[in-house]
Amino acid sequence: MLAAGTMAGSAAQAPQPVGGPIATVPVPPGDGPSRALGRPNRGLLLNGVQLPSEGEWYRTWDPILKRSPNRGWRRWGTTRLLSVLEQVAAERALDDPAAPPLLIGDLSRPHGGAFGKRYGGLGHASHQNGLDADVYYPRRDGLPLAAYKPSQVDRRAAQDLVDRFVAAGAQYVFVGTALGLRGPRRVVQVLAHHNDHLHVRLRPGAGA
Ligand SMILES: [Zn+2]
Repeated sequence: MLAAGTMAGSAAQAPQPVGGPIATVPVPPGDGPSRALGRPNRGLLLNGVQLPSEGEWYRTWDPILKRSPNRGWRRWGTTRLLSVLEQVAAERALDDPAAPPLLIGDLSRPHGGAFGKRYGGLGHASHQNGLDADVYYPRRDGLPLAAYKPSQVDRRAAQDLVDRFVAAGAQYVFVGTALGLRGPRRVVQVLAHHNDHLHVRLRPGAGA
């Protein structure tokens, strides 16, 4: 995501507009499988699924209000995206029972579509069709909060997280400029505004 408030040095910014009317739109249960329509930068989410506010191995984080859990309308995705997130969180806990829970940020809005500035912060250019998710890097102090600066990031744990999403078949994992995170060049790409979280994107396809 591209939220100014999560960037190093910008924590002192004035409160930003949050939510908007979309926060109150009720979403009827979908029938049929979830589907990602269009593209991440211009898309919609059909029969999306809401990521629960927290799970056994993860918490959610609101990048605008800077608190857990994330608001419900910011965490909708395809079934496949939710299962990848939950699988990575669970496998990580299995391998390291002492690891703090995974901290998951924005996915898509209930029906996808624009997720720009009016929803807070810098907004997201993508996150429009249920295939994108932001995941915060684990902190060195183990607290379930977003890191405010790169020095707070546990880089070994962050690299482990990148590796897990690559292994889970992500199309892209976007990572920050300051952390030295690596992976297959076509998949793991350095991008501005990603020094506190990675952005995982699944490729469109069957079992959306
Ligand atoms: Zn993102």
